[in-house]
Amino acid sequence: MIAQFTHDASLLRQALLDLFFPPRCVVCRQIGEWFCAPCRQAINRILPPICQQCGRPLNRTDCPYCQKLPLQINGTRAVAFFEGSVRQAIHALKYNHRPELARPLGALLSDYFSAHPIPADALVPIPLHPEREHARGYNQARLLAQELGRHSNLPVWNDVLTRTRHTRPQVELDAVDRRDNVHDAFVATERVTGARILLIDDVCTTGATMDACGQALQARAAKSVWGLAVARSR
Ligand SMILES: [Zn+2]
Ligand SMILES: [Zn+2]
Repeated sequence: MIAQFTHDASLLRQALLDLFFPPRCVVCRQIGEWFCAPCRQAINRILPPICQQCGRPLNRTDCPYCQKLPLQINGTRAVAFFEGSVRQAIHALKYNHRPELARPLGALLSDYFSAHPIPADALVPIPLHPEREHARGYNQARLLAQELGRHSNLPVWNDVLTRTRHTRPQVELDAVDRRDNVHDAFVATERVTGARILLIDDVCTTGATMDACGQALQARAAKSVWGLAVARSR
């Protein structure tokens, strides 16, 4: 009875909020959704042929990025390039306090995952430093992993990876410095031993953060480690 009342009250509250503050697409400002269907369609998808390790588009067998700095994990994949509408949507999710965007962005992950399966027993979001998570109010990677978990029925393991120290924003650094910046920044628990882990993040740049998490998971003998991000830089 009380639960029903609470449920009805929260539905009523949401209906009133939608009436007075209707969702508006963060990209085109159209009323109705936070990330509308045309803006979702407009994302620049990364399509095959791709490098089997780093997931970048590739027409040859030898990937120049992986020859220079090979990934330590099995591979990384991303749905789209980090530009245009998807860049704006991710920006709003992270910096404009719009956790609602995890739902449409997570749906992009799950559509990708159904079309291009990746071996996985569990989803593990890339952790933020606790202070940054506290300041933001949530970890966007965790919200995205929960959305993918809901669609794929894979469990989300939130507490198996910990970020042990602050790192500089990767965007300030070149590829080699990025690797040094996040080296040894993560530790994993024994729960991951023997498991096929799929790391989830909003953006993947060089893959250095995924790789550093992967090394922590490999130190606990995870069976395999893949990474999946909504978007990656070119
Ligand atoms: Zn739109
Ligand atoms: Zn590659």
